[in-house]
Amino acid sequence: MAAIKCIGILTSGGDAPGMNAAIRAVTRTAIYNGYTVKGVMRGYKGLVANEIVDFGSQSVSNIIQQGGTILKTARSEEFKTPEGRRTAYDNMQAHGIDALVVIGGDGSITGACIFADEYNIPIVGLPGTIDNDLGGTDATIGYDTALNTIVEAVDKLRDTATSHERLFFVEVMGHTAGYLALNGAIASGAEAAIIPEMETEVDQLGALIDQGFRKSKNSAIVLVAENPASGGAMGLAERVKKEFPQFDARVTILGHIQRGGSPTAIDRIIASRMGEAAIEALMEGQRNVMIGIQNGQIVYVPFPKAVSHTKTIDRASIDLVRILSI
Ligand code: ATP
Repeated sequence: MAAIKCIGILTSGGDAPGMNAAIRAVTRTAIYNGYTVKGVMRGYKGLVANEIVDFGSQSVSNIIQQGGTILKTARSEEFKTPEGRRTAYDNMQAHGIDALVVIGGDGSITGACIFADEYNIPIVGLPGTIDNDLGGTDATIGYDTALNTIVEAVDKLRDTATSHERLFFVEVMGHTAGYLALNGAIASGAEAAIIPEMETEVDQLGALIDQGFRKSKNSAIVLVAENPASGGAMGLAERVKKEFPQFDARVTILGHIQRGGSPTAIDRIIASRMGEAAIEALMEGQRNVMIGIQNGQIVYVPFPKAVSHTKTIDRASIDLVRILSI
């Protein structure tokens, strides 16, 4: 394998706060170690469309505090085809890119895994997603900021819920993973969290809320992870309203505000550490690994493990929401 001289970097899939901090860290660590850097615009879509620009240290100035991604992001159906990936590879060759750093969620890492196997390219992934659903890492870039956005929103909803003595169903992102809903519920003092990892029994939920109302509480907030199977917050609210017409239930869908905003200090720090680690991994000859953080330490997670969807929800957190809502 020839020595790596030029490293390409791209952001792909859903954007997440902290992606810019990661781009900055990857770029500057690479330049510090003598590599040339190229920025690939619009993820795999830009790799296929040959949207590739030179990146210097100043290209990433003044971005650590910005949400979104200066490289833009996109989804690419073409990259899912062998022909699309062939074009992407040819474009990489034409620009002299020998290795890639891919920042994105499970789809982006899956694409990286397939591409790396097909063309024998060194690729290192960074977990950039608000969902925190990648395996082998305790945290993903963007998760902490999204969680803080949820908590801020729920605090505001609590004021109006209390004043009107209402029940609010608040839908948050995470259609396959309940981390945002569960930890958002713990942090905001919500009465319950409905997550895709657990079956929702409407009567159990109703009983829990009813119990809360009958005691000292005059409002209740339930965080619901978006989930087509449960019908999301809207579907759940309809079912609860039907069974328990005594509740004045309302629905708020937080939607895309969860993706935006200036990254928290935690996200900036993990993005910076992971970005540096991506270049170190390439220098060590690592390939086809995602950078993760476990118990505060940087770890290398093989791509198949990162996208295996075997990360489990902590049972103690589920119990905690229930215990603290009595
Ligand atoms: P988020 O978690 O925020 O949704 P993501 O990275 O999972 O982000 P996806 O839309 O699933 O977002 O994937 C991003 C891109 O990765 C896709 O548009 C596609 O180009 C590429 N990709 C996903 N799956 C594959 C695959 N099986 N083969 C090749 N490329 C893929």
